[in-house]
Amino acid sequence: MVFFDLEPKSTGPSKTEYDVIIVGAGPAGLGAAIYSGRAGLSTLVIEKNIEGGQILLTDVMENYPGYGLINSNELAQRFKEHADMFGTEFDYGEVVKVELAGEQKLVYLDNGKAYKSKVIIIATGASPRRLGVPGEDRFISKGVSYCAVCDGAFFTNKNVAVVGGGDSAVDEALYLSRIAAKVTIIHRRDKLRAVKSLQEKAFNNPKIDFIWDTIVKEIKGTDKVESLILQNLKTGEIKELPFDGVFIFIGLNPNSGIFKDIVDVDENGFIKTNEDMETNVDGIFAAGDVRVKSVRQVITAVADGAIAATIAARKYFE
Ligand code: NAP
Repeated sequence: MVFFDLEPKSTGPSKTEYDVIIVGAGPAGLGAAIYSGRAGLSTLVIEKNIEGGQILLTDVMENYPGYGLINSNELAQRFKEHADMFGTEFDYGEVVKVELAGEQKLVYLDNGKAYKSKVIIIATGASPRRLGVPGEDRFISKGVSYCAVCDGAFFTNKNVAVVGGGDSAVDEALYLSRIAAKVTIIHRRDKLRAVKSLQEKAFNNPKIDFIWDTIVKEIKGTDKVESLILQNLKTGEIKELPFDGVFIFIGLNPNSGIFKDIVDVDENGFIKTNEDMETNVDGIFAAGDVRVKSVRQVITAVADGAIAATIAARKYFE
């Protein structure tokens, strides 16, 4: 099946000045790149790691329209190829400084390069939040994980805990149930926040158990995770239960980094925008999980990117 009927035109950066610089190559950034390139704007995407963003942390997507069930890596690759089709250029590095010089923005990377543009679209996404309990830092990669797809295979036929009650926790618990012997979801309330369809799958999965109204106080072990100290918030009871690993999915922190000193952010560091994705700084937009919003999904990230690029094209290049 042919999805892309144009030859990919993607190249490395061919110049130092672009109409639009997009920071981040997740769904929001690549969605913005497709709309920016298609509007005829010269577009550079700057990415710190590899294209795809947080979708690379999940196994399959079942709620991106048109695909039914699609492998997350494949969807990320299709986004990248689609941005390539409209001539998007890419550079790889971290943005370490932005200077505002009138209409121009100067963007400096940790790889020593610098670029100019009239518009910046910040699409840097968000990263998993930490529990902040004793043992968490010490046992990262030794039983503590924030990515079931990345680390699940180390827990084949083992006994793992998943902390959290949102879409990520339940989604990842379902994924882990295909690998581990037993998965226990530990949630601080007695109701899940996750969407009903995921809840139903988890409740009907014989390998998934639940511990309600409970928080993790400590992660214990010698060389690797061996047990969790848990506290029931209703009864106050504290107990220690054995686990081989703990997967933590308790929400997101914005990757607003240096941008939070440039544009307005909320108390958690998420970037404030209007419905056109404009920040309080002329010519700087934000799209996707890095901005203040209530629905963080791949489709809403892509849509944010499309809106940001479309408004940028109309406002600054017509
Ligand atoms: P989330 O929706 O914010 O849920 C975080 C969960 O962690 C909540 O259940 C919360 O408990 C719990 N929590 C927060 N802080 C905690 C703490 N310190 N200790 C213990 N538990 C804590 O985050 P998410 O699940 O990572 O999802 C982020 C966004 O991505 C959401 O918008 C979600 O819909 C989206 N997403 C969608 C999909 C999908 O469509 N398949 C998959 C993954 C993520 P309370 O419920 O008590 O607040």
